[in-house]
Amino acid sequence: MQYRLYPKDAQIQALKVQLGEACRLYNAALQERRGAYKHAGLSLTYYDQATQLKAIRAAGDLALANFSASQDVLRRVDKTFKAFFRRVKAGAAQPGYPRFKSRKRFDSYTFPSWGDGCRLTDAGRLYLQGVGHLKVKWHRPLEGQIKTVTVKRQAGQWFVGFSIEYEGEALPGTDAQVGIDVGLTDFATLSTGETIPNPRYYRKAQARLRIAQRRVARRTRGGANRRKAVVLLQKAHAHVQNQRADFHHKTSRTLVETYGVIAVEDLNVKGLASGMLAKSVNDAGWSAFINKLDYKAAEAGRQLVCVNPRGTSQTCLCGAEVHKTLAQRWHECPACGLSAARDHVSAQRILGLGLSLLDLT
Ligand SMILES: [Zn+2]
Repeated sequence: MQYRLYPKDAQIQALKVQLGEACRLYNAALQERRGAYKHAGLSLTYYDQATQLKAIRAAGDLALANFSASQDVLRRVDKTFKAFFRRVKAGAAQPGYPRFKSRKRFDSYTFPSWGDGCRLTDAGRLYLQGVGHLKVKWHRPLEGQIKTVTVKRQAGQWFVGFSIEYEGEALPGTDAQVGIDVGLTDFATLSTGETIPNPRYYRKAQARLRIAQRRVARRTRGGANRRKAVVLLQKAHAHVQNQRADFHHKTSRTLVETYGVIAVEDLNVKGLASGMLAKSVNDAGWSAFINKLDYKAAEAGRQLVCVNPRGTSQTCLCGAEVHKTLAQRWHECPACGLSAARDHVSAQRILGLGLSLLDLT
């Protein structure tokens, strides 16, 4: 759950200091690990580094206000190294040694435990240690048990992200079942025949992104105007992302409230048929959507089942293969005579596959 922050000037300065210090700590920890490895062949652990934190802070050499947030920076370094060693072990040709981060690109830090240096005030503000009481735009109610708080800088704006533990408030049971087919023109088609159109902002946003992109391309490299154009482009991207996330939240919520069993295609399957490749247009959006659907379903005690997408659009409900090109939007089965919209048939087929999978388990 991400919300926009409206810091005052002094708070922006404080946020920048916190981020800058988190970045400095990150790079220092990285440096120490590199040195130990290069000169002594030693691999430092998170604990080796965390034990030094107290002394560093006592010496006044770290202005990152919250102790746990400092530990979190070290944990991030640790993760980066662990991932690096995994790549080395897996025999990656270019494992990519962990790199220093520039202040410009270091744009988030995390309070790892709620209540420790961060809390909500009665007035609905977010208190962050070292920064103060921040104004938040609560565009959606914050539900569930907050676990961590991450402060982010994105395109010159500030955001706060809450990771939430859902208490799993089960919804009343329902026998309703649905299969969902990812659409090319529509967002999705349901086995009920209902379609979920792409939201109206979608085309507008695409057009706006293209314009912003072109503006960047026309400005000279390294110039101040280009920098400004880049910020505008980043803002446009952030705006689209937020809108999309919002749409995904609302859509997945409605589905989970309505259906007890939800069957979808698993588009992460390798080697998709050519017809499926076209669907990857929606791919990035689709997996983000499935993630939201997944945790909401789990929270509500619903069943989400992922089926192999192979052949879902080429097989009739009677089992006969009915080949169609992408352009053919209508399904006509010579075997059983079924005549229906292609995506509607696919969605029903997905539901059928999903139910047979559930029967097996
Ligand atoms: Zn048929």
